[in-house]
Amino acid sequence: MGIKLTWYDSDKVSFHCPGCGYQHPVRVKATAEPVWKWNQSMEEPTFWPSIMVNRDDPASRCHSFVVNGKIQFLKDSYHNLKGQTVEIPDAED
Ligand SMILES: [Zn+2]
Repeated sequence: MGIKLTWYDSDKVSFHCPGCGYQHPVRVKATAEPVWKWNQSMEEPTFWPSIMVNRDDPASRCHSFVVNGKIQFLKDSYHNLKGQTVEIPDAED
C-alpha cells in the first residue's frame, strides 16, 4: 500500500481527489483554525470531521469523509463520484 498524502505548507497534508481532479489540503497542525483530527497515517489516513471544498458553491462543492485511506463522497458533492466510496490514489513522487 502506498503513501497517499503529501505535506502542503508546514501544517497541512493533502490528498488527490479523483472527483475534482486536484489536491485537497487538510490542516492537521494547530497553526490556525480550523484543525482536523488525523490518525497520523500517510498510507491509510482518517480525518475528522468531514472535508468540505467550495461550501458556498453547489456547482463545485466537494464534501467527503476520509476514513482508512478511502474517500466517502457525500451526496451534496457536485461531481459524479458523489455517493460513492473510493480509495485515495497514491501520491505522486
Ligand atoms: Zn474533491
